[in-house]
Amino acid sequence: MRGLYIHIPFCKKICNYCDFTKRVPKDKSMIDEYLLHLKEELLTYKKYFDSIKTIYIGGGTPTLLDIDELKVLFDMLKDFKNIEEFTIEINPETLTKEKALLIKEAGVNRCSIGVKSL
Ligand code: SF4
Repeated sequence: MRGLYIHIPFCKKICNYCDFTKRVPKDKSMIDEYLLHLKEELLTYKKYFDSIKTIYIGGGTPTLLDIDELKVLFDMLKDFKNIEEFTIEINPETLTKEKALLIKEAGVNRCSIGVKSL
């Protein structure tokens, strides 16, 4: 296994043309719970961590996560040591300077930037 895709299925609003798996979070606990289960699932693949070369975080709208939620997300990815390409989808309307710095510090080296309907 060489690539890891992580889906963040949350959007501020649902676009009627969109086929991706997504939902508008009812509240913060819904995102927290998702991140918790994501971490649990990720750990079941621990034996593959060293073979992973690419990580892609898509959605949904990954940058809809607030700074603390993004920290939780990146923290669960810190044990991947052989990443050559690390991508996150960014919606500029949900990006702050603080989030951009965190994304850079986390080792992301490629951004897919889209302006989606919020
Ligand atoms: S923001 Fe993007 S992922 Fe979310 S519903 Fe719209 S097109 Fe789909």
